Amino acid sequence: MNVSDPKPRRLHIVTHGCQMNVYDSARMADVLRPLGYATVDTPEGADMVIMNTCHIRERAADKVFSALGRLRDLKEAGGGGMMIAVTGCVAQAEGEVILKRAPYVDLVVGPQAYHRLPELIAQAHRTRGSVIDTDFPAEQKFDFLPDAAAPQGVIANLTIQEGCDKFCSFCVVPYTRGAEASRPAGSVIAEARRMVALGAREIVLLGQNVNAYHGEGPDGRHWGLARLLEALAEIPGVRRLRYTTSHPADMSDELIAAHGENPALMPFLHLPVQSGSDRMLAAMNRRHKADDFRRIVGRLRDLRPDMAFTSDFIVGHPGETEADFAATMALVRETGFALAYSFKYSPRPGTPAAALPQLDEAVKDARLYELQAELRRQQDAFNAATVGLTTPVLFTGAGRYPGQVAGRSLYAQPVVVESDTDLTGEVRTVTITHANPNSLLGSLQKEKIAA
Ligand code: SAM
Ligand code: SF4
Repeated sequence: MNVSDPKPRRLHIVTHGCQMNVYDSARMADVLRPLGYATVDTPEGADMVIMNTCHIRERAADKVFSALGRLRDLKEAGGGGMMIAVTGCVAQAEGEVILKRAPYVDLVVGPQAYHRLPELIAQAHRTRGSVIDTDFPAEQKFDFLPDAAAPQGVIANLTIQEGCDKFCSFCVVPYTRGAEASRPAGSVIAEARRMVALGAREIVLLGQNVNAYHGEGPDGRHWGLARLLEALAEIPGVRRLRYTTSHPADMSDELIAAHGENPALMPFLHLPVQSGSDRMLAAMNRRHKADDFRRIVGRLRDLRPDMAFTSDFIVGHPGETEADFAATMALVRETGFALAYSFKYSPRPGTPAAALPQLDEAVKDARLYELQAELRRQQDAFNAATVGLTTPVLFTGAGRYPGQVAGRSLYAQPVVVESDTDLTGEVRTVTITHANPNSLLGSLQKEKIAA
């Protein structure tokens, strides 16, 4: 393939699931750009469509197959030239099944093999057959992804860690994303510098278990997340840092202390607890107790009284009793969350909890309803409490209507203000005047904020 003068090609990427998949999709576009692929918004007329899938949600594989059916129709209508690739966790978990049930799929590529996309595409063209790559190679895909990345805007995601060794009873991640692995700190810092040069002012560090980060530092030692955050905060132009998703068992003393010491670290933490019952946490193999979570929240609030928390909950895990669920509700009421995601337990084939006797669907539904009502109430109360506050906002670009600019609060809430000036990339003081369910309105104050 002639890389210096590539033929223009259209690439459409459909992304399901978490921010890590969003990041991976962007990196796949980066890998394919030198081959002439430019991204387009619709699959119609595309030369290649990538479905980057997620295995966490219920009936994930079924949804992938029905979407693939629609792509097959498009492929046939266009004379068969469109290449279809399935990537992500469903590709990893169901690779052979995909090729059997959807033989018109050209490529099945697991999350560890994205850097090999160009050679896999060439192989599929050469053999006119389907190609599958779902190995967990010893090499790190990060070392092979290109340096030149497309700009992500003022807020940029940066994956620093992949995989997980925790094996929670309900979760497919250790099976689809493989063992926990951290990127060397030097390569993370270099990527962050490039992002800042492209306009990023907030960097969100991503990983399935991000606070287990232990990458090799430029000094040859292992760096934890706190040390990495310290180095990133020193990069000129970096105004804000966040990290997600964390596990309570990996909230080290250093990382907790960093929230009191690192001025770029936002007072906002996503810390999934899943349940408030120690019996359930043990059944889930979570490696922490409800009180460990309480202690972490308490210590962080002592260091930063403005700290706010989000979390994930699962109701209806096998064995969950009314008393267990009541313990979850108690933990929720006591903590007070800015926002939280809650799910009905749904069995994932091959995970330990899937083999246990399951709870009645109606019981799970009722518990989810009760939990979500409380979480919604807390979210509304959190947003309402911001009205009247004067607070820093990082502006990300134009608002939806002319004369508006949009940004993010310390707690990542979308904030919209009236302004005729482009404030993109600036942190400015805003007084919040109104809270909508999913965004805040504010008025711009005169002075600029340095930090
Ligand atoms: N690594 C993170 C952690 O330790 O919590 C999150 C991993 S997962 C991508 C995101 C969330 O999906 C989990 O926190 C959990 O609440 C939910 N989840 C995962 N597997 C599930 C299942 N089988 N049924 C219902 N919810 C599930
Ligand atoms: Fe899944 Fe998170 Fe548990 Fe790892 S720590 S197994 S990613 S829920």
